[in-house]
Amino acid sequence: HQFTVSSLYSGKANSSSDLPLASLNKVLTEDSAAGKVKRKRAQTPLEKYYLTYLCVTDLSTQSWCEQQMVYGRELPPLQAPETVVLLNTGKSIHLARELEVHDVVKVHTTSKEDSWAIKILNLLSVIPVLQAGGCVRELPVFGVIEDVFLTGIIDELCYSAKGELELRELKTRGRPFMPSGAQKKRDYFQVCLYKYIFDAMVQGQLKPDVITNHIQLRPEQPLGSQIREHAQKVGFTVTSFGDLLELMYLNLTLSDIPSIDCLKIEYSHQESNTLLGTEVVRFEEEKVREKAQNYLAYWKGQREVQGVEIEEAWKCQSCSYSEICDWRKKRAEGPEQRSGPKKSK
Ligand code: SF4
Repeated sequence: HQFTVSSLYSGKANSSSDLPLASLNKVLTEDSAAGKVKRKRAQTPLEKYYLTYLCVTDLSTQSWCEQQMVYGRELPPLQAPETVVLLNTGKSIHLARELEVHDVVKVHTTSKEDSWAIKILNLLSVIPVLQAGGCVRELPVFGVIEDVFLTGIIDELCYSAKGELELRELKTRGRPFMPSGAQKKRDYFQVCLYKYIFDAMVQGQLKPDVITNHIQLRPEQPLGSQIREHAQKVGFTVTSFGDLLELMYLNLTLSDIPSIDCLKIEYSHQESNTLLGTEVVRFEEEKVREKAQNYLAYWKGQREVQGVEIEEAWKCQSCSYSEICDWRKKRAEGPEQRSGPKKSK
């Protein structure tokens, strides 16, 4: 039986949307090699937003328009109300689908490690289901690309009639027709990232210290009583966060779960709940890595934020930030006003 555990922890979330803007422009001071001269270093976006990891959806949103993704983080109230309604309805539909195959249990958490323990328990609980050839929904995945830790949730993993492991991503749409090519491209990138991370996980690349080092978690941290009780109920006896990480690593590497063979995206109309169409996505590892490298270069402070190129300027027409967008203004002034390398396609 599958469980999804959700957190009641009210600790600091990995989100910047509630951060005061004044705190976003700090600079860090660094000692020089000689230890005498102090020089100032601008914060990377990861530091500026206090992020120790990114979500796969951060990168797929970024692939639509990086500047828009940044505004969405800093100025969420400017988001169009219809976008917010669409997102909330999409979340409810996902939850309803999840409840078809899961029980949701509330567990109280007392530390950051407890919150991560929940994600790991959710992952551990689906491994036997996949091993037995079953279908799972809302599967958490974690991994590292370009030294940045990424997390995501796969909507659904099932075996096809041919016995291939198939990822299915559900996209609900406000309009009753299939998305444009550009929207599909963003969704393709998202599912390719899921496959990239999932495959690395089942191939044993998610070692316990990868998680603790990137997220700055303490393996020796004792787990809260409710976490331990829940772990016991689903068959795991654990005391510390490190115990759970070891269990996860062993279960993933010793399981014979294959890599994902097939990527599918199902588009359905939100209001009528009718299927609009299904896209099968080709996975090209080198291209996925190159794209991720380019987007992560922004997060690591290796290049400036970029908006859309002139051939995609049509995206600005429906953008909530078009009135205030610096990139758009500079583009109107001429190419010499902009800096930074061209975005790779
Ligand atoms: Fe991106 Fe255009 Fe919106 Fe600016 S106006 S954030 S360039 S889509």
